[in-house]
Amino acid sequence: MEHPTWCDPTRCTADPTTQIDGYRLGAGGEHLSALVSLELTTCLRLSARSGTAWLSEAVAPWRCAPYLNVRIGETELSMAAEDAAPVLSALLALADLAVVRG
Ligand SMILES: [Zn+2]
Repeated sequence: MEHPTWCDPTRCTADPTTQIDGYRLGAGGEHLSALVSLELTTCLRLSARSGTAWLSEAVAPWRCAPYLNVRIGETELSMAAEDAAPVLSALLALADLAVVRG
């Protein structure tokens, strides 16, 4: 079994042997990255002052897409990393318009 380069072996639950006799939803575990802490103390209208983000990729007989996951309080958002990248780039470009550097 190959792990994605971002997979953290201490968090990875991938077990392709559970798929040998056929695919079963959720049975194969998933590759998981290390958790990234999100400092949100200056955010408004959130239920928590911090959050976490991580990558995940399910295990199936076919190639699965990596997902970006964000959890803030009881709310969790998951989005294909390929789709999340342009959204985050647009948000960064927007924030950069207002940030005075140097
Ligand atoms: Zn893994």
